[in-house]
This record gives sequence, structure tokens and C-alpha cells, in this order.
Amino acid sequence: MGRVTVSPYLEHPLLIDRQAHRRVDVDLATTDAVVASRGAVLMRDGRLMRVPGDAIRDATLRAFLGHEGGRGSGGERDRGGRDVGLVVPTDPDVDLASWIADGATLTPLRAVLGALTDDPDGQEDRELATTAVALAAWHDTHGRCARCGEPTVAVQGGWVRRCEAEQRDHYPRTDPAIIVAVTDADERLLLAHAAHWSAGRFSHLAGYVEPGESFEQAVHREVAEEVGIDVADVAYVASQPWPFPASVMVGFRARAASSDLTPDGVEITEARWVSRGQFAAEVAAGTLVPPPVGSIARALLEDWLGAPAVETAPDDVSDT
Ligand SMILES: [Zn+2]
Repeated sequence: MGRVTVSPYLEHPLLIDRQAHRRVDVDLATTDAVVASRGAVLMRDGRLMRVPGDAIRDATLRAFLGHEGGRGSGGERDRGGRDVGLVVPTDPDVDLASWIADGATLTPLRAVLGALTDDPDGQEDRELATTAVALAAWHDTHGRCARCGEPTVAVQGGWVRRCEAEQRDHYPRTDPAIIVAVTDADERLLLAHAAHWSAGRFSHLAGYVEPGESFEQAVHREVAEEVGIDVADVAYVASQPWPFPASVMVGFRARAASSDLTPDGVEITEARWVSRGQFAAEVAAGTLVPPPVGSIARALLEDWLGAPAVETAPDDVSDT
């Protein structure tokens, strides 16, 4: 197994320079912005749209996402580019009607992740879309202070919500979840079917990290809980922001210490070992649906397979 690359941008510095020091004073009303609404972003012709900041009058949120086109927060800077914001329209049906009539679509983020190109333009779009959906989802559920219950207001360019009653600041949350590609002594991969997935969908075991445990301990616990086996040689592979609604997926590999699988019957209704040959044959026959393109689950799977997973059926991107 080689080094997993979910998408090259995840290993490199952000291409969008977030310029956090400018969040307090940037004029969001005049900054061109990407549009997010209910987990989807406005796309046209395979690219994430930027609309003029003043084109959407009524917004539930405006935020500063950073500076794009300068290619990065890393070493190379100041090669031009422009500011980019986020706007969440109060009524997308009204505010976006003219663009949608002109061929734009509100596209769910899962579909966006698989559709964007891996060139720098596509990578910038992916960063912006992921950040936009994550930030919008956080604001959507944090309108009140978790401590005193009073309303909160967005400040700091949309990166903080302040409880005015207590003068207390609340910051966006990201919940870590582990996902693990487990193999046995014969190099077979453990694939599981979750109760809420569509028929035929299989992927790795995954679950939230609980308070008081390390990522590695979460791997051991989740595998034991969901299929009843012990694992060894737990090793970190890669991670991916996964704002459905607020996660970062932390990817691991592990070796099974035994092979008798006992699905818990609640979260996991079926679990089995597949060889590379079995996997390729079932995917080609359409009886096994792998995780969607653009996900860390797909990258871990193709890392084990040693090749792209070629499907006959179109991607169903509705599953977690
Ligand atoms: Zn409060």
C-alpha cells in the first residue's frame, strides 16, 4: 500500500490565503462571494460561482473566506488574485433565480467534491466550497449561546459568534471522526454496510472520536463495537474535512487480529472480507457500490485495490 492522496490539495498549504487578520474590517457587502445554502453551493459549468457581493440583498450570513488566485498561504504570495467571501441568501429561490435560469445549480457538496478538477482552479473551488458549507452549517445551528441561551451575532468576518449578553465568543466546531481500512492476513479488505445506506453500498468502518480517547483508541473501539474484532498496527494515513455537518475524517489503516466478523446489527447490518479480485468483479457487476469519488473512503479503498475502482452505475452521493 502506498501513500494515499485523497486530493493533492489536502497535503499542501491552503491555496486560499485566509488572511485572518483582515476578518475584522473587510467590507463584505462589496466582496465577491461564493453562495452556500442548505449544504449546497452555487455552481456553473463545473466551477464554483462567485457573485458580486451586492447582488444578494438579504442574507442570513456574510463571511470572509480569504484571498484567492494568489495561490496559497504557503511560500508563494502576492501574485495577484482577489478577495472572496461567503453569502448565505435568506431566500435562495428568490435571490438565485436569475443565475439558476442562466444554467447555475445549487449542487450538494458531496457531488461537488467528486466533480471538481484537481488542477489549482479546481482545488481552490474545493477549499472554498468545503469551507463555505462548513461555516454556513455552524452558523445555522449556533444562533443562540450554548451557555445562557441568549441570541448570538456573527462577528470577525463570520468566524466567531458573540453572545452579547455575556460578552462571550463562540468559535466554529469541527468534530473528529475516524475511518479505518482494515485488512486481514490474506490482504482482504473489511467492507461494511451501514443500516441507513442504500442497497449495495459498502465502505470502511468509521465513527466519531469520543471525549477522553485518542484517534487510535477510537479506531480500536469502533472496530470492536461494530464488528467484534481486535486490530493491530493502527497507522495514520490522511485526513479530509468532511462538513456533513461538522467533521474532519481522520483516515487509518489497521490489521485484523482475527477474522470472525460479528456485525452489531444496529449501525452495521453486514460486514465481510473481500479480495481484490472479488471486489473488482462485484463492482463491475453493479452488485457492490463503493464509496463516492472525492471521499477519503474512496481513496483508502483504491489504495488497497492498487487501482481506480471502475463502476458501471452512476455515483449515488446521498450516503454518508
Ligand atoms: Zn451567553
